[in-house]
This record gives sequence, structure tokens and C-alpha cells, in this order.
Amino acid sequence: MQSFQESIIKLITETSTNLPPDVRRAMARALETENPATSAGTALSVIATNIDMACDDEGPICQDTGMPTFEIKTPVGANQIEMKRAIREAIAEATRRGKLRPNSVDSITGANSGDNLGPGTPVLHFDQWENDGEIEIKLLLKGGGCENKNIQYALPLELPHLGRAGRDLDGVRKCILHAIWQAQGQGCSAGAIGVCVGGDRTSGYQHAKEQLFRTLDDVNADARLAALEEYVMSAANTLDIGTMGFGGGVTLIGCKVGALNRLPASFFVSVAYDCWAFRRHGVVLDAVTGEIKRWLYKDEQPARAMATGEGFRLTGNEKRLRAPLTEADVRGLKVGDVVLITGEIYTGRDAVHSHLMKHAPPVDLQGSVLYHCGPVVMKNNGHYKITAAGPTTSIREEPYQGDIIRRYGVRAVIGKGGMGRRTLEAMQEAGAVYLNAIGGAAQVYARCVEEVLDVNLLEFGIPEAMWHLRVNNFPAIVTMDAHGNSLHADIEQASALMLQKLAVPVF
Ligand code: SF4
Repeated sequence: MQSFQESIIKLITETSTNLPPDVRRAMARALETENPATSAGTALSVIATNIDMACDDEGPICQDTGMPTFEIKTPVGANQIEMKRAIREAIAEATRRGKLRPNSVDSITGANSGDNLGPGTPVLHFDQWENDGEIEIKLLLKGGGCENKNIQYALPLELPHLGRAGRDLDGVRKCILHAIWQAQGQGCSAGAIGVCVGGDRTSGYQHAKEQLFRTLDDVNADARLAALEEYVMSAANTLDIGTMGFGGGVTLIGCKVGALNRLPASFFVSVAYDCWAFRRHGVVLDAVTGEIKRWLYKDEQPARAMATGEGFRLTGNEKRLRAPLTEADVRGLKVGDVVLITGEIYTGRDAVHSHLMKHAPPVDLQGSVLYHCGPVVMKNNGHYKITAAGPTTSIREEPYQGDIIRRYGVRAVIGKGGMGRRTLEAMQEAGAVYLNAIGGAAQVYARCVEEVLDVNLLEFGIPEAMWHLRVNNFPAIVTMDAHGNSLHADIEQASALMLQKLAVPVF
């Protein structure tokens, strides 16, 4: 088993940097479907460019490299303790190499372990099989933005816009549609869902996530569930939520449903939502040497380039902004404008926002651009380099953002998925805008960072620190303006009307 650890590092690297062929095919179809002149079409074009960059340079597709979840099948008698040790060492090494972002945080103290190891991290599920010569290992890297959109229902219940969901297949159908609708663009749509009908609260979520190990284009062996999957794929794509929640015809790229027996008193429907950066790979290893014998999920042919254009298509109508910004800069913007930011910006997410509510900022934020981003950062010869830097889900900062804008004079917030009413009110009152960057486009945005100027609050860990960056032509779309307009509120309302139309029973 001398090669086992190196094989796991290869699996982690491939999973973090290259999408499997079935996901690539689904994203290629989305790209063909969406009008390239729309915001959703632009977002897909950026995503395609990002996929190519990550693959070419072996960089993380998204800066949130997620919770590593391994499904492992071993021959009877294989030493699982030794395998666990080697997998943990491989995780730490992949983190050192910048293929994984340090993502394991002590839930009591908030301290980041720095190597992706800790209680519950990584997730390892072992099973045995009667195949003496081989070990099968599958890996899913699923980020926090989409993980936060997982949802579990206990039937029967009343669902907003869909009415009563009973303890039958039609009730299940309604739960799935609601799960997709409530995610909006916050989980970096176009997304895919794994569903479990039944089980208990724990096994239901686990089985839902296991569905994500199926390929997007397989057909369910159970004809009833196959019909449900097919229905959901077509119905969800009428909701007009679209890529990043910008509106559009592609909201879902996959729906996979499994079922477990349940207790008579319980009827759970558990939904695991995964983003377009659907990172899943697998290998079969020689049980004696640990060498890779073959890859699962891969095609015979090497991956082809996805991008057909130049990523963020520039039309000449973009608004060029130089940070720090003035009130007049942002009051002149409206929803739908594309901006290109050059100058100095600061990152800040959960820990920074919480800190700023109780302490003065470590830097002057007057006129600043605050980027909701937890980057991947490497340090070489004493210099920091950002190697992945897409936006994180902004709605988590909703309890703080309005106060921070008013208190410190922040003029623009960059993130993804949009924010709520309180932030919108603060933006209107104080003069600020929300700029939606393309979720998961970590490689595209890392290349906009010219220099790391400084870092504050590094004690919060690399993703949560406040990074001071100089950027050049950083592209984003205004989705909330200083005049009280929010694309996110509009899309949520319009998609709720579409959802209502799907309330009539189908099964
Ligand atoms: S693509 Fe979006 S939801 Fe997915 S891991 Fe990246 S930031 Fe999170």
C-alpha cells in the first residue's frame, strides 16, 4: 500500500480542479441554452472560462473546496485504520499544495485548524465489498454556499406558494420544487439536487448526499423515481431563476432521487443541493499496492475546453470604477449595469462582519469596496499570492451589513446571491451598491488580483481574514442599487408566481 497516499492526493487534486464529464456536458448544454446577451448567459460564459483555467493550471475551480466526503469500499480484512491515517495525511498535504482551502473550523472557538483536519473533517464512510483485489474510493467536495441550501421537510406540511404537501409522491414533488425555489441563486445555480424520500433525519440527509455520486445523465432504476426526476428537471427549469439567480432558462442541471424505508410516524424528504461546481471523482485502487488502476466517472477522451468566448463579455457599456468610491460613483449606478473595478478592495466575511459590530475596523473603510470572499492564499518567499478568489454567499452577512455600511462608509459590497431588505434600505439611505460577482469563478477573479497589499485579522484564519488587495478590471453586475431596486427581490417574487402554477397535482 505504499502508493495509497499519493493516489489519494491525485484524487483530491483532480476533484478540486477538474469537473467530471457528466457535469461538463450538463454545463455545456446550459451554455447552449442561455442567451449569451443576458446576465445569465454572461455568467455561464465566465463559468466556462473558469472551468478551463482551473483545469489548465490545476487550480481549485472554486475557492471553497468544501467538505471532503469520501465513500470507500474495501475488501474484507483490509486495514481501515491505516487507510484513515493515509487519507488524513493526503488531505493535509493537498492543503499545503493549495488544492484545498483550510476549511476545518473549531465550532466552539472558531479557530481554523489550518490543515483541513479536525473532529468530523474529513468525512469518511467505509463499506466492505467482496472484491478482494480492489479498493473503490469516491470523493465529493461540496462547498458551504450550497450546503447551506440543503433542506429537510417532514410531511404533511403547508408549503409557501404550493399549498398542502401530503404523504405521497405528489407531496414529495412539491417539497423538491420548494427546495429548488428557496435556494434561488444563493447556492450558485444552476445546481443539482440529491433527494432522499424517507429514512430518519440523519439517514435521510446522508442518502440524499449519496445520490450526488450518481452521474447526472443516468436513469433511475425505479420507474416511479425516474418519472419524478424527469418531471422535476423540466418543471424546475420553468421557474426562471437561472444561473446565479439572474433569471433564465437553466436553474437545475440534475435531479437524483433515492428512497429509504421510514418509521410509520415519520415521512421526511431530505434535499442536498449542489452548485454548478459539482466536484466529484472516484478511483479504483490495487488493494496490494494502492496504485490507481482506473478512474471512475471519466471519459476515454481528455476533457475539452468549455469556453467559446472570452469569459466576461465586454460590450463597451461597462462602468469603470476606481476604488475607493465616492457617493456620486455609486448613486450613478443602477441594477443591470456591468462594472469593472480597479483599485484597492478589502475582503471580509462572517468573522470580519461579526468583529466590526464590536470593534473599530483595522483600516479606514470610508468609500471602500468590501468583497465577501474567503480566498485560497499561498505564501512564497514571504509574499502572499491569491490562487482562488470567487465570491461567497452574501446573505449570511444580512444581520450586520446595513449597520456596517452606515457606520463605516462602505460604498460597495461584492458577493453572490444578493442580500435582503435591511441591507437594501441602508444602501439607499447611505449611498451604496451590491455587486454580484459570478459564484465559483475563483480562477477568473484570482487573475484580477494584481497584488496582496496587506492582511489584517489573520488570527481568524486564511478564509476569514481581511485581505487588502489591489485589483484590475474586476467585473461584476449591479444587482442592488442605491435607489431601492433589487434584482434578487424581483426574481424571488416572479419565480414564486411560476411556482404557484406548479401546485396542481401531477402524481
Ligand atoms: S460554486 Fe458557489 S456554492 Fe459552490 S462551492 Fe463555490 S461558492 Fe460555494
